[in-house]
Amino acid sequence: MGIPHVLAVPYPAQGHVIPMMELLQRFVKQGFKVTCVNTEFNHKRVMKALNGTDGHVEDGIHMTSIPDGLGPSEDRNDFVKFLKGIFQVMPGKLEELIERINETDDNKITCLVADETMGWAFKVAAKLGIRKVAFWPASAALLASMFNIPKLIEEGIINSNDGTVIKHQMISLPANMPAVNTENMAWVCFPDLETQKSVFDVILKTNEFVKLADFIVCNSAYELEPAAFTLFPNILSIGPLIAGNQLGKQVGHFWPEDSTCLSWLDQQPACSVIYVAFGSFTVFDPEQFQELALGLEQTNKPFLWVVRPDMTDKLNEAYPKGFIDRIGSRGRMVGWAPQEKVLRHPSVACFLSHCGWNSTIEGVSNGVPFLCWPYFADQFLNKNYICDVWKVGVGFEKDDCGIIRQSEIKDKVEQLICDKQFKARVLDLKDKVVNTVNDQGCSNKNLSSVIDSMK
Ligand code: UDP
Repeated sequence: MGIPHVLAVPYPAQGHVIPMMELLQRFVKQGFKVTCVNTEFNHKRVMKALNGTDGHVEDGIHMTSIPDGLGPSEDRNDFVKFLKGIFQVMPGKLEELIERINETDDNKITCLVADETMGWAFKVAAKLGIRKVAFWPASAALLASMFNIPKLIEEGIINSNDGTVIKHQMISLPANMPAVNTENMAWVCFPDLETQKSVFDVILKTNEFVKLADFIVCNSAYELEPAAFTLFPNILSIGPLIAGNQLGKQVGHFWPEDSTCLSWLDQQPACSVIYVAFGSFTVFDPEQFQELALGLEQTNKPFLWVVRPDMTDKLNEAYPKGFIDRIGSRGRMVGWAPQEKVLRHPSVACFLSHCGWNSTIEGVSNGVPFLCWPYFADQFLNKNYICDVWKVGVGFEKDDCGIIRQSEIKDKVEQLICDKQFKARVLDLKDKVVNTVNDQGCSNKNLSSVIDSMK
């Protein structure tokens, strides 16, 4: 008999692939054979960032791929097309892959770990008699809000057909969960109705598919979201995965990391640097980009700013005139940072973030307070956790033109750094999340029992 073999299917986005790789490392440590299936498109990016090739094994994880249904140059930011491609093509390709592995590998696939959003994969696994774990890489509150959709429809708050808002109001599941404006519900924030409907449809389908899973595990902690986990006890907290991981090489990243910023950080005074990063998706219009640059300049503090190559149009011309010269070595811009290592660095004072869930839990796990600049999807909900529930950060206000101005940036940085309570509270939260992934902690126990039952 072979060893247990996990096949993992992350959703094809950076903020889903990274935590999936972190989860898979736990299975590797427990003696599982692990194969991770990215889309061909992302597999190429990950391999390029790692200097690897097909069939590459990284940290004990065998990296492979299947097509996502789109041609190499088709726009993967077009969600309607993208989701259609995934649903039409990937189930058949996944089934073929599993059958091929089972014919050729001594270790047949015994367990599927798929992103909750890739719920169609549970149907494939059910057909082939494989056990199933659904992995949710965002907050339990977000998943709870999706599970809550039938209730929103019943109460006439949203339209059952496309999820559009009928009654505009604040929604909070139980009282101690962050309230979200109906305008900011995860499926409502897309710019056009067709995309919104297509995302809403996927959520409804996924709500059904996930019922096939043996377990639903969530990269969050009971200590961070007691109300959401109490409301849906079938969602098991197993995170933050980052808090329990040894920092090694970054695996699953779409861009190569620029680690020179770590030696730059070494030269900065303790607790002095503003780390600025907006995850993998966020794009800026030119005016907002310039205001941010000028705001950072005005703080008079050292800053490390992740400016992805695709973050704004014509990057070379995007900075304000003379900015680069005036900043000199006080500011450092990189295309992609080793974020987990940056946040762990003692020179970092605060995290100016778009509040993606991974960034949120990475900041918390390292005791770094936040300046919140949410854009999209669940980032508003995460900002509410940070500012209103945990009280470990402050948010920026837009002016009447919808722009966050340089003076606002300067003022909020000062407010966050001068009020020592923010740092004290985030350190307290850090202790809680570090404990929960340690031996006797709730997240660790949950994850161990899931892994044991997959053996
Ligand atoms: N990240 C990174 N380097 C960067 C920017 C981001 O390694 O320069 C990582 C970050 O640590 C996090 C992920 O990319 O794990 C982004 O996920 P998140 O949920 O915060 O945002 P998304 O990209 O999904 O909007």
